[in-house]
Amino acid sequence: MKVTIIDRSDSEIKFFVEGIKPPFANELRRIMMNEIPTMAIEWVDFVKNDSVLNDEIIANRLGLIPLKFDKKAYNTPKNCKCEGKGCSLCQVRLTLKKKGPGMVYAGDLKSTAKDVAPVFDKIPIVELFENQELQFEAIATLGLGKEHSKWQAAVVGYTNLFESKSKANEMKLCDKHLFHVKDVKGIKVDPLQCELCAYLNEDDNRFKLIDDSFLFTVETASGLDVEDIIIDSAEILGEKIKEFDKAVKKL
Ligand SMILES: [Zn+2]
Repeated sequence: MKVTIIDRSDSEIKFFVEGIKPPFANELRRIMMNEIPTMAIEWVDFVKNDSVLNDEIIANRLGLIPLKFDKKAYNTPKNCKCEGKGCSLCQVRLTLKKKGPGMVYAGDLKSTAKDVAPVFDKIPIVELFENQELQFEAIATLGLGKEHSKWQAAVVGYTNLFESKSKANEMKLCDKHLFHVKDVKGIKVDPLQCELCAYLNEDDNRFKLIDDSFLFTVETASGLDVEDIIIDSAEILGEKIKEFDKAVKKL
């Protein structure tokens, strides 16, 4: 297997993986999205809500605010010593109290844990008008994307690559097109760089699908760094394979 990083920013990485099969690529994607614990608000106790939005809508909006957290400091409620009753190892309390007029932002949340805070302060929650007030206490916990999308660690996509059957100088797809010259045999086409490439498919006889190479795009949707998401997903996949191996040996 060969991994080549194509592009990276604070929140997104693009990389090629060569030498893997579609089920492997798919499992990696599913783990990155669904099986890496992240922190999100799970319970909200409203003391006062005079805003135009009702409690349920505000609670839903709060759940979707990505929170930064120290990933070594917390357990998921199911795996905590308190057996899910709630303690400082599996719950973080956040409070908010604000009077109108003005917009209530994620940055108005006050966390009782130093490491836990919204990733972006300027996410609007609700606008308060004159004489309106919002006050609540919220509990954030770790959870998984497969339980609720508010805990989804990342947005992950991958696409196949195609190789041209013709020589490089015969290739004229479009002006925007970006080629990755692989070797004399053909060209690697990066489908994200060109609209035409997005329509390439196995039936197009000018191209050959490379079925063991994938272009991944991973963007964090949580308080976790995008590198951590990729490394953790590889570890989880490794553990799953070990478990599978053990189960097979028992047969
Ligand atoms: Zn606990």
